[in-house]
Amino acid sequence: MSHVFPRHTHRLPPRAVRGQGCYIFDETGKAYLDASGGAAVSCLGHSDPDVIAAVQNQVAQLAFAHTGFFTSGPSEDLADLLIANAPGSLDRVYFVSGGSEAVEAAIKLARQYHLERGDPGRRRLIARRQSYHGNTLGALAAGGNQWRRQPFEPLLIEVSHIAPCYEYVLREAGESAEDYGLRAAQELEDEILRLGPGNVMAFIAEPVGGATIGAVPPVPGYFRRIREICDRYGVLLILDEVMCGMGRTGHLFACEAEGVAPDILCIAKGLGAGYQPIGAMLCSKEIYSAIEEGSGFFQHGHTYLGHPVATAAGLAVLRKLLDADLAARSARMGERLSLALRDTFGQHPHVGDIRGRGLFIGMEFVADRERKSPFDPALGIAARLKAAAFDAGLVCYPMSGTRDGKLGDHVLLAPPFILEDRQIEEIIDKLARAIAAAL
Ligand code: PLP
Repeated sequence: MSHVFPRHTHRLPPRAVRGQGCYIFDETGKAYLDASGGAAVSCLGHSDPDVIAAVQNQVAQLAFAHTGFFTSGPSEDLADLLIANAPGSLDRVYFVSGGSEAVEAAIKLARQYHLERGDPGRRRLIARRQSYHGNTLGALAAGGNQWRRQPFEPLLIEVSHIAPCYEYVLREAGESAEDYGLRAAQELEDEILRLGPGNVMAFIAEPVGGATIGAVPPVPGYFRRIREICDRYGVLLILDEVMCGMGRTGHLFACEAEGVAPDILCIAKGLGAGYQPIGAMLCSKEIYSAIEEGSGFFQHGHTYLGHPVATAAGLAVLRKLLDADLAARSARMGERLSLALRDTFGQHPHVGDIRGRGLFIGMEFVADRERKSPFDPALGIAARLKAAAFDAGLVCYPMSGTRDGKLGDHVLLAPPFILEDRQIEEIIDKLARAIAAAL
């Protein structure tokens, strides 16, 4: 018996021993097609030789140098390459070890930015329901997943939550997508006015909603309107691309498709592609200047920020994404996978919606297709689908999000960008078996 503290104490997972391409093998030799890249992490698959070599070389050359004393070549090069490809006026990169840390840093930077500018009243954060921004206390407070929040509610900072942009459920009959987007964005302005604009520091959202909601792209114009509203009231726009960034949706950064740039951008998962734990917070020149010309010190920091081995891995991943234009491949293969899913499951009585962008695809399962009504949460449909798929040798990521007080069951597919056609067939085949077994 191991002394590892597992996620689920009642059922222990198999021991993974080897990765090859899109597959993970357990100790019995069983192969699992990693159709969700864990949770949208393994964008290059599990055996990329260039990233492995970069990690090996860096650890042999310099494993660690504390950022309180030193900078490092891989961190500088990765920051420069990220900024060279980043939208808007994003200008500086703050490296952390994962997504929650990136969001924590973003929240604290937003607060410090307003303090540095002599605007201490701005302390309120606005976020969206059915969102996930991480599990540390600040990030958890920002998230809108009631199940995750509930036990820790007394420990969380006060955050306002508006509705997500969730066309499948919230667009009204007869309403155009554009009108719906403007109506959804209007909730932000209403909430800013309710709180008093001088009290609001930032709004945080995922450009394409991931965990909790299942790969939900925004309707056209929604984020442009959000950007206008933030600008009108001096509220910072934080975009959380921890899951949807790094080429996953067909652009290096998901917000590019919306024609907006944030003041602060959070990335993680695909940045290290699973080869190293790394995340990053990118901020605008204006925010950086406020710190540089003010106190000169961002009052935050972790021991492992800018870890040279992690940034060396991130640099190798980013070079690969750019050199092989893997974001375009994600778009192309995502289109094929979506088509295959629609052909096979589009008319299934319990498949309500198949949506997404690039290789970031969500399937929403419903009790009643016509009414789009969710299953009884007690049935645990998403968990059953995960288990049945896993038995069949398929890793897909289950999600149960709160949907107007009820649970919605989703499955997220986010396979590596190196996915091939025969693996699309394998996903469809194994998913069909899982759906037949679980529903
Ligand atoms: N933000 C988003 C959008 C996420 O999907 C996640 C993780 O799923 C996080 C933040 C937290 O990232 P991590 O688990 O690396 O702390």
